[in-house]
Amino acid sequence: MTSSLQDIVCCMGQPLGSNPTQYMMEKAFIAANLDWRYLTLEVSPENLPAAVVGMKAMGFRGGNFASPHQVAVVDYVDRLTESAELIGAVNCVHIADDNYVGENTDGKGFLQALQEISDPADKKVVILGAGGTARAIGVELALAGVREIVVANRSTDRGQALVDLLQSRVKVAASLVEWKNDFVVDEETDLLVQATAIGLRDARAAVPVDTELLSDRLIVADVIHNPPRTKFLREAAKRGCTVLDGVAMLVNQAARDFSIWTGIEPDKSIMRESVEEFFEL
Ligand code: NDP
Repeated sequence: MTSSLQDIVCCMGQPLGSNPTQYMMEKAFIAANLDWRYLTLEVSPENLPAAVVGMKAMGFRGGNFASPHQVAVVDYVDRLTESAELIGAVNCVHIADDNYVGENTDGKGFLQALQEISDPADKKVVILGAGGTARAIGVELALAGVREIVVANRSTDRGQALVDLLQSRVKVAASLVEWKNDFVVDEETDLLVQATAIGLRDARAAVPVDTELLSDRLIVADVIHNPPRTKFLREAAKRGCTVLDGVAMLVNQAARDFSIWTGIEPDKSIMRESVEEFFEL
């Protein structure tokens, strides 16, 4: 589709707060010489259906769906990609040939960031959390050939739903631990992924994990990108672990969204630099 008007993509969420993705996307559009804009729109759950219809009415090319809309928006798209269907959540919508196509790039963004430092094949993984982000990461790690996934979650119903998904749909060995006290990571674990909302906009928030017992051969990842250096990652780094911050996931996920919408590969170094500039790192 070509247009003489400025092309627009958006992010819908509630609340959105200050948005590094908007800053990063607009810098990437400029670098690619594209006259595109990325709008952030506060949309309440009851207004989601009308807002999705409105995207087409206003000629938007697509959009990101942030919390709390990732699961609900599944009902308002015409088609889901394979991973979005497996995960049961959509974070990126592309409007193509008058159809809304729902994609999930969160898990793929995480996987790509991880693969830049280590191959997850045959690794044992612990995922803390079982929400939309944990589901996306769990599915992509399973598809990438990890050996085993342990899900630790506070509510057992949500945790068990993720374990069931991993076992039945992506055929990986998976089990649930009810997460009540400080989680102790066993010696066989290779990768620990903090996929809860703990630490978002709170550099002092503590994740209930016994960090004193973390082995220095562990890779410890945190999905939180704001702030990029969470207390959890700072403690893991002190124990000698290799750490992967949420910015790496954010940049890789956003780069995928960019190419889905525009058909062009963005300059990822500009995207990473703009997030660092946004957070004044
Ligand atoms: P959801 O609301 O779907 O899930 C939240 C998860 O966190 C649940 O498992 C919940 O457990 C758990 N949780 C929340 N608070 C606590 C707590 N105090 N103690 C223990 N467990 C807790 O959220 P999402 O999965 O959509 O998002 C999670 C985070 O991922 C967000 O902060 C978001 O910013 C981040 N994210 C980062 C991205 C990146 O690119 N870096 C991309 C996408 C998301 P329970 O089931 O028991 O309630």
